[in-house]
Amino acid sequence: MTEAPFDYWTQDGRFGVRIDRRAVESIVADCARSGRRETGGIIVGRYTDDRRLALVLSASSPPPDSRAGGFWLLRGVRGLQSWLDGLWKKDGTHYLGEWHFHPFASPTPSCQDVRQMKRIATTESYQCEEPILLIVGGDPRGAWHIHIEVHTRKGERHQLTRRPDPKDPLG
Ligand SMILES: [Zn+2]
Repeated sequence: MTEAPFDYWTQDGRFGVRIDRRAVESIVADCARSGRRETGGIIVGRYTDDRRLALVLSASSPPPDSRAGGFWLLRGVRGLQSWLDGLWKKDGTHYLGEWHFHPFASPTPSCQDVRQMKRIATTESYQCEEPILLIVGGDPRGAWHIHIEVHTRKGERHQLTRRPDPKDPLG
């Protein structure tokens, strides 16, 4: 028997996110290493042809110039552009959004998290009109939870929950 995939959908089936198991493992390992401080990075992948489903295929570790405390994070940038350039050349995957960790707390986005996503959705240089926010909460060595939402350029927030595609007749 295979384990359930990390598939997240909005209730209306408009936005889906599938996270590769190795990307989840890499994120949770970075959270565990971070102890009681926040940590984070970016997520990379591609969309399916109909653009409904984003496939998250890799997650960066925290860039070395990141700064963090128990309740705050300034995600750094060092090394990210060359990592992204390499992935784009290798398999055509690109920036999809952000991930970070709320140590031993709920993965609910803060006001600042929401502001940051709005800025990314409307900042041309990110080239990402519908950025994904992935937050891990809880204990990375025990019970952890993933929260996922998609932000749009119009300023909408769409929350996703772990479930099969609601538009799939077999789901
Ligand atoms: Zn946060």
